[in-house]
Amino acid sequence: MSTKERFLSYIAFDTQSDPNSDTSPSTEKQKRLGEYLVKELTQIGIADAYLDQYGYVYAFLPTNQESKLTVGLIAHMDTAQEMPGECLNPKIISRWQGEDIELGNGLILSSQAFPILNKYRGHELITTDGTTLLGGDDKAGIAIIMETINLLVKEDLPRPNIMVVFTPDEEIGQGTSHFDYSKKMDFAYTLDGGPIDVINFENFNAWSAEITVEGKAIHPGDAKNKMVNSLLVAMELQSMLPAFENPAFTEKYEGFYHLTEMSGTVAQTKMHYIIRNHDETKIKQQLELMKSICSFLNQKYGANTVDLQLKKSYANMRPLLLERHEVLEYPIKALKRKGITASFEPIRGGTDGARLTFGGIPCPNLGTGSGNHHGPYEFASVDAMDKMTEVLVELMKIIALETND
Ligand SMILES: [Zn+2]
Repeated sequence: MSTKERFLSYIAFDTQSDPNSDTSPSTEKQKRLGEYLVKELTQIGIADAYLDQYGYVYAFLPTNQESKLTVGLIAHMDTAQEMPGECLNPKIISRWQGEDIELGNGLILSSQAFPILNKYRGHELITTDGTTLLGGDDKAGIAIIMETINLLVKEDLPRPNIMVVFTPDEEIGQGTSHFDYSKKMDFAYTLDGGPIDVINFENFNAWSAEITVEGKAIHPGDAKNKMVNSLLVAMELQSMLPAFENPAFTEKYEGFYHLTEMSGTVAQTKMHYIIRNHDETKIKQQLELMKSICSFLNQKYGANTVDLQLKKSYANMRPLLLERHEVLEYPIKALKRKGITASFEPIRGGTDGARLTFGGIPCPNLGTGSGNHHGPYEFASVDAMDKMTEVLVELMKIIALETND
């Protein structure tokens, strides 16, 4: 089987996770793909591959060198909530030359609208039919890891000890909630990115703000000097935030305040924000601004009008990874040996790798050759997935041989 064949078989599984579920995995159907992957790993020759009760797949491949290191290779099985994730009718463009791609459902995938595609001219592309996600996020990562393991075993290529982990529920922020930290890993890589030259080792510092505005409801005809309309106070709060520090106007290292939910009546309004910044000093300033806006409104409308609850979600892994720079240097070298110059982009979100890094397993993120994630314009390049498989094989070789003792 090739990386492409593996990929096409995985994307047909419906593995959508569910943020409103309180079970783990959040949806039972993710286990169907887990079982399938265990079967494949067993066929490849990994004796102890298994699916645990929380929907995690673990498989251990011992080194054929003297290396004492264990390296984790990690990808997630679930797909995002934006659209159905069961891609039963993918389109395959055997050699894409830059032309517009008619996906179906009236959607056109063009390099004009999505300049990222220009990286993939001349490649074989896989797209959706316009009605689902492709599932390249992150089944491209799973396919690359699977084919890498297959090649390492079949051709007995040099490798360190390898722990493969396929996780559920990454898209709902629960991808490491039941991660088995008793599995020993010196460091790991998630394969959950876009272009394969890009290594991610920075992510947002992430907080959320839960705001409740209490109003004073009274008949509007009798409201003078008495009514406090909580909806209007909530709008006033939003209007005091910097207008351009919002996802629609920010990129790269720019942080934001993002109002994700708002609902209310005259009597009470609830707002939910996520607050993000790569820079630790800057996010502290953002939190301070949020606090001072709320206290200003409390002075203006009366104590306890606005209640603010700030909660930390996750932190930037950058400082911890810079302390373990060899973990970044290995993939830079592997890419270079395959003719690719590594580049670095900050992730404008979180990653399971960030949580693992803080859990003691340094874990940058590598690319998969897929793109336009979380929507019907998602695509994957077969050429890039193949190349990344080569890079990953090379990466295992470099780690095994450089850490032989
Ligand atoms: Zn992903």
